[in-house]
Amino acid sequence: MPLQFGHDHYSLLALTTSTPLIERYLAGYPLTLQAQIAQLQAHGTLAEHLQQRYPEGHDIQSDKALYAVCMARKQRYLKNAPMLDKVYFDNRLTIEKQTLGLNTAISRVQGGKLKAKKEIRISAFFKQAPAAFLDMIVVHELAHLKVHAHDKAFYQLCLHMEPNYMQYEFDCRVYLWLNALKQLDDSER
Ligand SMILES: [Zn+2]
Repeated sequence: MPLQFGHDHYSLLALTTSTPLIERYLAGYPLTLQAQIAQLQAHGTLAEHLQQRYPEGHDIQSDKALYAVCMARKQRYLKNAPMLDKVYFDNRLTIEKQTLGLNTAISRVQGGKLKAKKEIRISAFFKQAPAAFLDMIVVHELAHLKVHAHDKAFYQLCLHMEPNYMQYEFDCRVYLWLNALKQLDDSER
């Protein structure tokens, strides 16, 4: 099952809450791979492993900077896609709420014409995430400007914008899972 960001939300937790957490985050990936990840976590080395793989943070902390990042990529790869009216970090998009990116077209009547305002919202969670993961969600949301479904064409477009897209998406899910575990841990304390 592909990731569901976007217009349709990033519904990580599509399965019931009784499903083990890792299966909710890594649904659709081979069970052997899930087992490997679970093992690294059990040995306490998963966080370090991710940290080594993605040592770079980023300084995209403002809505203005986020807008610039999105526009730069859009102009480079998706010139013909609709203009972006607004791009911003949203504190209300959280792991618990299952939505980390959102892509909306709000239709308004302006001067007798119907105009669609394109908005991309990215969870503020990504301010502190590795650069590669912010990159991934930006690419994901931009790709939705052209393709709504998470189909083959969609992922081809993501790969066109970011050749490492698939790896980033997987590792980002692992990262999100780790963070969800941490939150659970903290709430039990
Ligand atoms: Zn999506």
